Amino acid sequence: MDTKYRAQPSYARPGEPGAWETYLAQVERVAPLLPKGLHRYIETLRQPKRCLIVDVPIRLDSGEYAHFEGYRVQHNLSRGPGKGGLRYHPDVSLTEVMALAAWMTVKNAVVNLPYGGAKGGIRVAPDDLSRAELERLTRRYASEIGILLGPDRDVPAPDVGTDEQVMAWIMDTYSMGQGGTVLGVVTGKPVSMGGSLGRHDATGRGVVKIAREAMGRLGLPLPGARVAIQGFGNVGEAAARLFAEQGAKIVALQDHTGSIADESGLDVAAVKAHRDAAGSLRGAPGAQDLDTESFWRTRCDVMVPAALEGQLTAERARHLACRMVVEGANGPTTPDADDVLRERGITVVPDVIANAGGVTVSYFEWVQDFSSFFWSEADVNANLERIMGEAFRAVWEVHVERRIPLRTAAYVIGCTRVLEAHAVRGLYP
Ligand code: NAD
Repeated sequence: MDTKYRAQPSYARPGEPGAWETYLAQVERVAPLLPKGLHRYIETLRQPKRCLIVDVPIRLDSGEYAHFEGYRVQHNLSRGPGKGGLRYHPDVSLTEVMALAAWMTVKNAVVNLPYGGAKGGIRVAPDDLSRAELERLTRRYASEIGILLGPDRDVPAPDVGTDEQVMAWIMDTYSMGQGGTVLGVVTGKPVSMGGSLGRHDATGRGVVKIAREAMGRLGLPLPGARVAIQGFGNVGEAAARLFAEQGAKIVALQDHTGSIADESGLDVAAVKAHRDAAGSLRGAPGAQDLDTESFWRTRCDVMVPAALEGQLTAERARHLACRMVVEGANGPTTPDADDVLRERGITVVPDVIANAGGVTVSYFEWVQDFSSFFWSEADVNANLERIMGEAFRAVWEVHVERRIPLRTAAYVIGCTRVLEAHAVRGLYP
């Protein structure tokens, strides 16, 4: 396409390193591999459809007022309503949320869910707020972005710093405006209020399922495998627990409070109990404390970044001592780190398939809410494993047939589906 027709969003600050630039670099890599007839639409992948910035004022418990900046971005809605998490973190920015929304567009298409991609966030340190302040913040934010929300328009879910209680407040706030309970407006809700069994562990379960599939193809058995995980929140903790349940050894863990290791395998439940009581991973029973960079040099079979984006830099990639990286987080690997890992023969299983378990069970929750018929946990987990297994098989086939990295293979499948939907719907007006 002639570059004079390429819009340069003023708010994206082209060339500035960060998650959005990482996403654009990933699109550049897949562009030459997409079906020829779809090329004319590729610009749609480089532009978020809608970005909403909102001021979220709240009354603090002290009586003072505080203002927080919030966002909701709908990157692409060609395949269905917007779907994607809500992040509470002091460093959240518009361009970060744009990237996270775009990754949801690709991910939902790779797993073939009937959704577009969206994401939201508030620049806030949630731990600094009381529960009552957090509730006021969430309700005011839900009300401010309410013009975009709806079960057939845009459906948030938990992400970093948010949980099922936050989702329940959003559902209630939206429902108040509608005059009736609208369960399907968010997913990741409490099971007691329209949530799905299995949603809490779904992302971690999907990470372990996809790791097992990829390891099987490399002839690496999961029982006895050495696994290191960055992040011990919703995704990292569930992945650690489920890896250990299936016979792997968790040899190192890192979160924002510190890093720990145990050659013989950490006791995940004991580490969690210690972290909950002490507020830190450091000093966990039977574990040795590590410094941040030593964590990335841990000798292991599988490294799972499950914290924030941009963590696996080229510098860290040069020192990784693993066979495979399985991305639990969104966007943890920078494009130059991807290149280093490819040269070093380390397989990278990308976020858009590896962490899709969460949105897959969110989809099940949405379906259950519509039908008011709730499934057993065994049914949820069986359907999760089936859908993720099929999606991974398709990605692996493209990877082998076209001799391209797994990330590019996943993007070929996902971006083709998005652009096909765009093509058949046509351009309005
Ligand atoms: P969470 O808030 O529950 O946990 C985040 C974890 O990251 C915490 O353990 C925190 O200590 C750690 N962390 C933060 N900064 C760190 C740093 N600088 N160094 C090391 N550790 C750090 O969040 P989550 O829901 O587990 O999400 C983690 C990642 O997985 C994010 O990239 C998120 O977008 C992605 N993800 C989450 C879901 C989901 O269902 N929750 C689904 C798909 C992808």
